[in-house]
Amino acid sequence: MGMDGLPEQECLICRKHRGEGPLAGPVVWEDEYLVVTHRPVGEDGTAVLGYLFVESRRHVPCLADLTDSEAAAAGRTVRRVAQALRAELATDFVFSAIAGMSQAHFHQHVFARHAGTPAEYGWMAGDQWPGAPRGTTAAVADLCGRLRPYLGKDSAQD
Ligand SMILES: [Zn+2]
Repeated sequence: MGMDGLPEQECLICRKHRGEGPLAGPVVWEDEYLVVTHRPVGEDGTAVLGYLFVESRRHVPCLADLTDSEAAAAGRTVRRVAQALRAELATDFVFSAIAGMSQAHFHQHVFARHAGTPAEYGWMAGDQWPGAPRGTTAAVADLCGRLRPYLGKDSAQD
């Protein structure tokens, strides 16, 4: 049983880490503490490129539930994801947020604001812009492959 009362076998993020369920998406990188994934393609067969999640491997609901080691890994990894997105995509900015109201399993959103996104699309709505670059499963997998080397550095390195 998870800390929130939801059995781990039913948690959508735990299921995702097993490659199952509606949230399952391409894994960019993982280690003993974290799993980094890209948003999967939707019903139209595409996804806005550059929308990632940094998730605790352990089934815990909130930022406050992470161990020091998990929190350190998350901070370092979120920065590396931001660096990777900035390097590999044309971005105006890289945003990050922790909300956790829909799934009680720690996950941090890290996502590109694509260059040229009009101001009327707020920071959380950049993926609604019709001009945001989208990719098929193959294009998302290609991007994940390009992002992966930025995350695979030894944790003792900058
Ligand atoms: Zn979970």
